[in-house]
Amino acid sequence: MSEETIFTKIIKGEIPSKQVYHDDLVTAFEDINPKAKHHILIVTNKPIPTVSDVEQEDEQLMGHLFIVARKIAEQLGVAKSGYRLIVNCGKDGCQEVPHIHMHFLAGGNLGLGGFPENK
Ligand code: 5GP
Repeated sequence: MSEETIFTKIIKGEIPSKQVYHDDLVTAFEDINPKAKHHILIVTNKPIPTVSDVEQEDEQLMGHLFIVARKIAEQLGVAKSGYRLIVNCGKDGCQEVPHIHMHFLAGGNLGLGGFPENK
């Protein structure tokens, strides 16, 4: 059996986090090292390691990440002003935690591409 990821422990409440959303499929909480005024991680409750491990049966779950991103944007009042969604995959994608998650970044102009330089 594979080891639990730090995100599984956060989802189970074994490690504290500032949770902003939770349902049967995903959990969202503030990133511990924010790269923008708002930096939320939207994490699948199912511990899929990377996008390369996504199966056909995960199609609805993957779509749900975007539905929750839209809800969080509305919660934060940035649906109209805009935000950025990032999914890192594997070593060259600089994915640190092997548990699929979408970065939600918002709060001011984020500049072009990737993570903003300063929060
Ligand atoms: P990745 O590089 O895998 O796409 O992003 C992982 C993210 O998880 C990083 O932005 C990092 O700051 C965040 N992170 C790592 N450990 C923790 C933690 O224990 N709690 C929270 N809230 N975020 C974490």
